[in-house]
Amino acid sequence: MIAPTEFTNPNLDVLYSEKQIRDRIIELGEQITADYAGKELVLVGVLKGSCVFMADLMREIDLNLAIDFMAVSSYKDGSKSTGDVEILKDLTNPIRDKHVIVVEDIVDTGLTLSRLLEILDSRGAASIKLASFLDKPEPRIKKELKIDYTGFVVPNKFVVGYGLDAAGRYRNLPFIAVVKDPSAA
Ligand code: 5GP
Repeated sequence: MIAPTEFTNPNLDVLYSEKQIRDRIIELGEQITADYAGKELVLVGVLKGSCVFMADLMREIDLNLAIDFMAVSSYKDGSKSTGDVEILKDLTNPIRDKHVIVVEDIVDTGLTLSRLLEILDSRGAASIKLASFLDKPEPRIKKELKIDYTGFVVPNKFVVGYGLDAAGRYRNLPFIAVVKDPSAA
């Protein structure tokens, strides 16, 4: 018998396959290309989770665009986000008068992102929209948070892969999966 590798780990339940993800990203890219025609667009990826989504999404947007990255740490009360964020890595270039799309891996409570959008909003961008690969609407505390471009809506379960980790592991999985038994992960 062949021993399972990381990609065939029996503790993972695949939710969205590589093919489903690729097809959806092509659609999102077409939508963004149409929405931002003739505009100066900057994609701002939120590290580290958005790195895979960002890399795939930008290659499906047929526009003259720039990319930048931010890293924030959200303060947690136990395992729950409190909404206080610290900027660990700021943007390299100013976003004043630019059309910005913030690129996230997943929106859960929405607290981290709401705060981050407030911070970016104070910097004079022409517009700020949000693209999140996954939307987990059930635990949403910040109900007013609008996701303009969503990859997939997921159930209220802890998911990994395609940039999302569990204690640093699984970011390299080409699919999205639920960890069946987190204690065995
Ligand atoms: P929020 O402030 O929206 O509660 O926190 C969002 C952040 O929590 C995401 O950017 C992500 O890093 C992490 N997160 C929330 N849900 C999940 C999940 O199901 N899986 C993983 N790997 N991270 C998650």
